[in-house]
Amino acid sequence: MTEKEESRAQKLQKELSLPKKSAWERLEAGEKERVFTFAEGYKGFLSRAKTEREAARAALEAARGRGFTSLMDLPAAQGLQPGSRFFLSWRDKVVLLGVMGATPMEEGVRLVGAHVDAPRLDLKPMPLYEKDGLAMFKTHYYGGIKKYQWTALPLALHGVIMLRDGRRIEVVVGEDPGDPIFSVSDLLPHLAKEQMKKNMEEALSGDDLNLVVGSLPFEGDDEFKEKIRLAILQLLNQRYGLIEEDFITAELELVPAGSARDLGFDRSLVGAYGQDDRVCGYTALQAILELENPLHTALVLLVDKEEIGSTGNTGAHSRFLEYALTEMAARTNKPGFFNVGRIMAASQAISADVTAGVDPTYENVFDMHNASLMGHGVVLNKYSGSRGKYDANDASAEFMGRLRDIFNRQHVIWQSGEMGKVDAGGGGTIAKFLAYFGLDVADCGPALLSMHAPLEIASKVDVYMAYRAYRAFLAS
Ligand code: MN
Ligand code: MN
Repeated sequence: MTEKEESRAQKLQKELSLPKKSAWERLEAGEKERVFTFAEGYKGFLSRAKTEREAARAALEAARGRGFTSLMDLPAAQGLQPGSRFFLSWRDKVVLLGVMGATPMEEGVRLVGAHVDAPRLDLKPMPLYEKDGLAMFKTHYYGGIKKYQWTALPLALHGVIMLRDGRRIEVVVGEDPGDPIFSVSDLLPHLAKEQMKKNMEEALSGDDLNLVVGSLPFEGDDEFKEKIRLAILQLLNQRYGLIEEDFITAELELVPAGSARDLGFDRSLVGAYGQDDRVCGYTALQAILELENPLHTALVLLVDKEEIGSTGNTGAHSRFLEYALTEMAARTNKPGFFNVGRIMAASQAISADVTAGVDPTYENVFDMHNASLMGHGVVLNKYSGSRGKYDANDASAEFMGRLRDIFNRQHVIWQSGEMGKVDAGGGGTIAKFLAYFGLDVADCGPALLSMHAPLEIASKVDVYMAYRAYRAFLAS
């Protein structure tokens, strides 16, 4: 082969092939600094917002600070004008943020939806018991976890308790450096000969995830049994006014204690709990906070319960979106127009959720030709699902083409992706629940390592590109 022929092939290759190149090497001048600065705000959000309620609250606070007002406080008819910024808070766990567009709502909205719940351990309704000199809490895990990852780890307790007098109290124990932490005990290797023979699914059962919460006996009654349990109840009663029955009327969640951190010598990654999917929640939030006078009405929807199937009245598989659009339509200058079905049919959405990044140790579960690499930009996924796209929202070629054009025109660095090998497993997102209403939807978000583990890893450049992608889409 002559040198000339080789360069012709290289030229053609450049014209026709899709290159795989690190996003870090494709950033424009000055952009690397913006990537690192953006990550500081992101880490702050992750450290503050460790439950769905805390994430919803943080989003609302940020929105209020940027001139968003409550939709329900706006007058019917004329309350919403082009450029109006509003929020709708739902059950303290769901937030819709909106900026009204120049075009009427029946021409469709641009929606970015992310979930702000994350896998964790919840307390059982009757958690407290005493055994073998210890007070313990029983837990029931929430979402898809590898149970062994949640033992022998510092955990913090976050949540709300409804007391019998109707008071609602909020609890956070384990985040302040002076706070005590909690931990699920694990079997020492010395005595784990039988356990180590079991497969990973069977080695621990859900009922083995029990939390150590104390060991001091109640003083002054030698005859009494379960003095440690009583002493914990007494302590909780003194501190919070709580009696045992109040555990039943509570939502108490155990999450890994501590703050989000830079990861790696070069600080190019973020290591933190809850990045699935608060990474998309935060980036979508930042995108809409900065949005002014969009062409189409722009919405960011932060929902709960994705990790357990988007169920319940705070999940994406509820009619909240329909309700919210009705409340919005009633406040436009065309209040007679209540055809919410038509608004949704004309609308476009990004299901903003994370996907699996290639883990160098486990390449075997990926089709490397279609897998997403860490630090190679935000991932655009045509479909999710498992075993033959089952349960997937499979985005149309037309809509994928539209998103590709928006991203390329705005210099968003993105890559394509697929969760893993065809029959390796799979997963779902809120995409199909948005698609149910007739919107065009595709999945788009950063790739993570160690998804659903107590410490998940994201690349700062991918986080930044998710923000850029959502901003470009909301403005389209
Ligand atoms: Mn997710
Ligand atoms: Mn998940």
